[in-house]
Amino acid sequence: MTALNTPQGGLHRHSEVRYNAIFTDDDIRPARRRKACEQLVTDQPDVLIIGAGIAGLTAAHELAALGKRALVFDKGRNAGGRLETRRVGEGAADTGAQFFTTRTPEFEAAVAEWVREGLVFEWSRGWSDGSLLTVREGHPRYAVKGGMAQLAELLAQGVEVALLKVVTAVRRVPGGWQAELANGETTRAPAVLLTPPVPQSLELLDAGGVALPFDEREALERIEYAPCICGLFTLSRPIELPSPGAVQRPHANLHWIADNQRKGLSPNAAVITAQASNAYSRALWNASDDVIISAMKLDLLPFLDDDTTVLSGEIRRWRYAAPVRIFPEPVLLTAIPLDGEGNAALAFAGDAFGEARVEGAYLSGRAAAHKLAAFSP
Ligand SMILES: Cc1cc2nc3c(=O)[nH]c(=O)nc-3n(C[C@H](O)[C@H](O)[C@H](O)COP(=O)(O)OP(=O)(O)OC[C@H]3O[C@@H](n4cnc5c(N)ncnc54)[C@H](O)[C@@H]3O)c2cc1C
Repeated sequence: MTALNTPQGGLHRHSEVRYNAIFTDDDIRPARRRKACEQLVTDQPDVLIIGAGIAGLTAAHELAALGKRALVFDKGRNAGGRLETRRVGEGAADTGAQFFTTRTPEFEAAVAEWVREGLVFEWSRGWSDGSLLTVREGHPRYAVKGGMAQLAELLAQGVEVALLKVVTAVRRVPGGWQAELANGETTRAPAVLLTPPVPQSLELLDAGGVALPFDEREALERIEYAPCICGLFTLSRPIELPSPGAVQRPHANLHWIADNQRKGLSPNAAVITAQASNAYSRALWNASDDVIISAMKLDLLPFLDDDTTVLSGEIRRWRYAAPVRIFPEPVLLTAIPLDGEGNAALAFAGDAFGEARVEGAYLSGRAAAHKLAAFSP
């Protein structure tokens, strides 16, 4: 049994163990960060957060700073959501977000801290479109040493995160909300923050029989996401991409190709990430992995010299990769009538609220924490 740092900063122990965060042996993260950690959850949290992507994890930290206890559930075996780094044979690849930018002082300050800690580095100030010209228009694009998932792992420290918790329904109960899990467990809290892609959050409320006010439901249903099919290819030798090892081509089938070796997260193998554009992803969505791999290989050919062969390919499908129609505010706090039950709140956050990117998800998580902190007892 392990004692945890609570959000309040102290250590607490419980006799009843209800949670295991599991970082498995095949995890690509360095040993110093890799640990099997048990988190002990018995008391009702002030805020239950669904989703341990950057929005949910940021909200948990902010709530802790505001003196609230947050518990984060995620269905994945790692935290991070769309900040994902995968092992690919002897190498590794970022499969979701490839880099992030900072456009606000809040996120700039957070990123500056991660840079000071040595976790985040400036990767580029612009991309080539595949011609010999790299556009350097000045604003920094940041990446994470060892891959994007490392940032999620950092953010998952010091807050209570329960992995492999598949929430199947969120239901209104006296005094708050109940989350029902696929394994039969239930957890209650006076406030719930939903950070999955919005269609998935709405499914949880539908399963719990929660009726949102009409205008909120309508606003949430207007949010739209584009899919992205991501191909991960291991090559027989390094690919020659313009500095710093990536191309961004808005009008091509493969709108993003990046060399994970030059990015520093795949020292032992030439693994590239190739992302299909929105339209190409939609067109290929129902095809088999083999068909998609063959199609993407053809698109890659112009970037490979005669001596380079593709040793292997695999596909990561993101149904809700990036919002293409968003909710204009960083958080939606519902106006569900409280039935005289006192404090109880439900909010939506994530990259569909405010700005459709890593920074937007971060800011949304922060904003949601501040709104919800005012509601919990
Ligand atoms: C291929 C791709 C490329 C991208 N490139 C960039 C980029 O270069 N720059 C950039 O800024 N952004 C990029 N993005 C977008 C960026 O990744 C997202 O904006 C950001 O990571 C979203 O964070 P989030 O916390 O809002 O959502 P998510 O990261 O999606 O987190 C939601 C979490 O909810 C969990 N969840 C869902 N349903 C349940 C359930 N029922 N029970 C429990 N848990 C559940 C999920 O497992 C997930 O971990 C990219 C995304 C993709 C997919």
